[in-house]
Amino acid sequence: MIPVIALVGRPNVGKSTLFNRLTQSRDALVANYAGLTRDRKYGEGQAEGRRFMVIDTGGISGEEEGIDSAMAGQSLQAIQEADIVLFILDARAGLTAADEMIARHLRVQNKKTYLVANKIDGVDPDLALAPFYELGLGEIFPITATHGRGVKSMMSDVVAELP
Ligand code: GDP
Ligand code: MG
Repeated sequence: MIPVIALVGRPNVGKSTLFNRLTQSRDALVANYAGLTRDRKYGEGQAEGRRFMVIDTGGISGEEEGIDSAMAGQSLQAIQEADIVLFILDARAGLTAADEMIARHLRVQNKKTYLVANKIDGVDPDLALAPFYELGLGEIFPITATHGRGVKSMMSDVVAELP
């Protein structure tokens, strides 16, 4: 079985941009506004000679009715299907209530999770990353999905953990 990596996070953090970079495709809809990509989307990627599936998700806004229904949708299915979850955060926006809700859910999942601080371009990394450490989910990878900065280095750590 090919290992599966799920991209999870609230809308507009850059999940589809990262998906396109990892799968070298332009098929996922990259929105200038939140929530355009509504369905799960699968693509195949490769890093360090390892092949993997990537799942793009429409995002969890935190405005759904409670954590159960929020997580009952396609993002939860993606988490369940995945061997590794990349939890994408927006370094420009900082930590939001929706991020904290997603983090609470991921903490109780028995799933290898990495924090990805996207949109690190033009921000002070030390200042931008500090609030994300409070989530207590471990290592944080700062990246710029639009230009690829940090992605190769992140993926070399991620594929090393793939089954
Ligand atoms: P999604 O809703 O999480 O799938 O987010 P998208 O991939 O659709 O991206 C939302 C917006 O953020 C788009 O306008 C992207 O161009 C922009 N974006 C994505 N990654 C970056 C990044 O690394 N830096 C900056 N500045 N903008 C980004
Ligand atoms: Mg998207």
